[in-house]
Amino acid sequence: MAADTKNPENANDIVKSKNFIYEIIDEDLKTKKWDVNICTRFPPEPNGYLHIGHAKSICLNSGIARDYSGKFNLRFDDTNPEKEEQEYVDSIIEDVKWLGGNFEDRILYASDYFDKMYTWAIDLIKKGKAYVCDLNADEIRETRGTLTEPGKPSPYRNRSVEENLSLFEKMRNGEFPDGSKTLRAKIDMASPNFNLRDPIMYRILHDEHHRQGNKWCIYPTYDWAHGLEDSIENVTHSICTLEFENHRPLYDWFLNELGIFHPQQIEFARLNLTYTVMSKRKLLQLVKENYVDGWDDPRMPTVSGFRRRGYTPEAIRNFAEIIGVAKRDALTDIALLEYAIRDDLNKHAQRVMAVLHPLKVTITNYNGEEVLDAVNNPEDAGMGSRKVPFSNEIFIEQSDFIENPPKGYHRLIPGGEVRLRYAYIIKCEEVIKNEKGEVVELRCTYDKETKSGSGTSTKKVKGTIHWVSAKQALNIEVRLYDRLFTVEAPDAGKEKNFLDFLNPGSCEIIPNALVEPFIKGSKPGARFQFERHGYFCVDTKYTTSEKLVFNRTVTLKDSWGKTK
Ligand code: ATP
Ligand code: MG
Repeated sequence: MAADTKNPENANDIVKSKNFIYEIIDEDLKTKKWDVNICTRFPPEPNGYLHIGHAKSICLNSGIARDYSGKFNLRFDDTNPEKEEQEYVDSIIEDVKWLGGNFEDRILYASDYFDKMYTWAIDLIKKGKAYVCDLNADEIRETRGTLTEPGKPSPYRNRSVEENLSLFEKMRNGEFPDGSKTLRAKIDMASPNFNLRDPIMYRILHDEHHRQGNKWCIYPTYDWAHGLEDSIENVTHSICTLEFENHRPLYDWFLNELGIFHPQQIEFARLNLTYTVMSKRKLLQLVKENYVDGWDDPRMPTVSGFRRRGYTPEAIRNFAEIIGVAKRDALTDIALLEYAIRDDLNKHAQRVMAVLHPLKVTITNYNGEEVLDAVNNPEDAGMGSRKVPFSNEIFIEQSDFIENPPKGYHRLIPGGEVRLRYAYIIKCEEVIKNEKGEVVELRCTYDKETKSGSGTSTKKVKGTIHWVSAKQALNIEVRLYDRLFTVEAPDAGKEKNFLDFLNPGSCEIIPNALVEPFIKGSKPGARFQFERHGYFCVDTKYTTSEKLVFNRTVTLKDSWGKTK
């Protein structure tokens, strides 16, 4: 699969098709198709945390409701008691809210409709359109037929309405063991569409439901339940991913047979991202087998992971806008998501100086201390400036000094000069080494006339580096994240498992970095740009009152710091 975003031709296609759902809705409004307000929904199954693909669906559905002054429902598709948990329900509500999906007070549950669905099933039985079948799951699969051969009708297909009603009631009352019977729609065993070959509507499952307890021991299948849920809520446009295209005839069949409010199902291409797995099963495996540190590990493609990493909801919504809505599957370059967050943080993040790998510098001809003015955000004058302490003992980045520089290196070298950001030009006079020959300190002199903003000197140097004053600097922990996988499509390996492509260097922890005192007392979640290093935010999990822990949200692309 080619990355669509790298191909201008396809990118154009995305932009054009971005509006195909809007075009459908516009047409519906013109023809007055609906006598209710536009209504969309986001229908997660509470069996995992939401990921960036879900975020796309939330932005799309809630965006439509917003743009057409309609409604957007959050509805839990909690029809399978086996894998569903309250923890997931809670996290999903938090994530949808955080993304700005405005469901008002409508947190709905498919399980609240079970009674209604049961009554409708009885209606279909009475119409002769549904029957109780005694074949087990394997037998049903074996009699489904193939692409070229029709399926074999179940021997129970022609049970009388009375018998079906009685058996179905007994199913509901718990008189049969799991898997011994199903309720099936009576449609067409010869249909070219497999989904119409007498699909299962109910299966027996004696399992406790996270909301219904032991009230039910029969549970509806997705195909049977989903259209009914949409219909009950007067959803006008039921937007789902492409794999449900072949299910649409069944969706329509149930609603037509019941003669109830009939939403329109529309399919769009799911989001796939490079260097990312998006299947809930695989994400669960990463969590359960401790390859990552929980669902909200900052390397996870989950909404909670991105939040912890420092992403803003605005950036994710912008990303959803940029990628648009397509009708065929593609692979989106993760660089586009990184672009979206960088763009947002560039406009809003407070700048500070942080030194990740400190090298001590003593300024031998400087006495005392002073505070210097530093700009908080060059993109936004309204953010003002701050005071940065300066003294004769500072730290610079180890990589900003080199003894034997390659050609074109503009930072500090023995006998060379460099500008300290917001401060003075310094000159390296002496290099101190330990017994192993490693550079441990630089002795420098400063030129008083070169003070940033107010100096009288016209001296110019090519390099500018960042620094922190030793006495006032705060000690922090910094976590640098890289992609969780080493290949663009970790899912695509034929022989290899996605776990084989895990990036062993996806999290580098720097336990003792130094940052200017401005950030003291920052709240978990606060976002900063560490000049020349990237955007960082205060971690919500590991930060303590003693020590701030910072996650790198994203690197910088262009910056003044591209000093050679
Ligand atoms: P599964 O059904 O295997 O548990 P799922 O990812 O489909 O996984 P759901 O909870 O059913 O999870 O998804 C809720 C909604 O999110 C559905 O409407 C689905 O179409 C949409 N969705 C899921 N994955 C993506 C994706 N990658 N891109 C866009 N929409 C998605
Ligand atoms: Mg699903």
